[in-house]
Amino acid sequence: MRQCYIAGNWKMHKTRPQSADLAKELVAALKDGSNKYLVAPSFTNLEAVAAVIKGTNIRLGAQNCACEEEGAHTGEVSVLQLKDLGVQTIILGHSERRHSYKEDDALINKKLKLALKHGFEVILCIGELLEEREAGKANAVCETQTVQGLAGVSEAELANVVIAYEPVWAIGTGKTATPEDAEAVHAFVRGLIAKQYSQAAADKIVIQYGGSVKPDNAAELMAKENIDGALVGGASLKTETFAPIAKWNAK
Ligand code: PEP
Repeated sequence: MRQCYIAGNWKMHKTRPQSADLAKELVAALKDGSNKYLVAPSFTNLEAVAAVIKGTNIRLGAQNCACEEEGAHTGEVSVLQLKDLGVQTIILGHSERRHSYKEDDALINKKLKLALKHGFEVILCIGELLEEREAGKANAVCETQTVQGLAGVSEAELANVVIAYEPVWAIGTGKTATPEDAEAVHAFVRGLIAKQYSQAAADKIVIQYGGSVKPDNAAELMAKENIDGALVGGASLKTETFAPIAKWNAK
């Protein structure tokens, strides 16, 4: 059975003390939770949050990484630096990186392979734009992003990959995919993994849903067979909205 995995992407929110305070609250709120948990603060706040969540059931995530290990890359942050801070997981291919910062599948794949080489877990985000969904291309877009994002990744390495299906039109907009629409894409992506790798790999891979997940819609989404948790943005910024999502347990 796949473990339900709830991740909070704090994006470019919060100062160091604010991040540490939220992390402290979450440690207390989730200490008895049975799901897998992650928080991904800004780079500048990783060290402060690491100190708070060390030894707890909450993993430390980064929101991005550079595609090279080190060198002349002004403004970038390397996997070596992230490892040094205690980061365990890197979120890659988030729609804000794809669309606002023009990251393409080839770049995301390069980052993903580098992160896996250094022993990180990767959350690979995929998802279609509204016009792509309206044109009936949601599955095709997710197929391209999945296949190209995972190009050259072995089945053994895939054990450290989580996929997050995040329809772009649902991120930060308050619009959520219906549980049925989300489930259809999740099932499609799991089928792709079966085709590209094996049925065993497909059965094992965790596929999170992301896009305006809130306490009042999370349960319905995560109850679906192929939805194994959530990648949460806005609602992850407060304990009172993240904890009820994170503590969900019905499978
Ligand atoms: C996200 O940033 O990955 C996300 C899903 O954001 P929100 O929950 O705010 O839509």
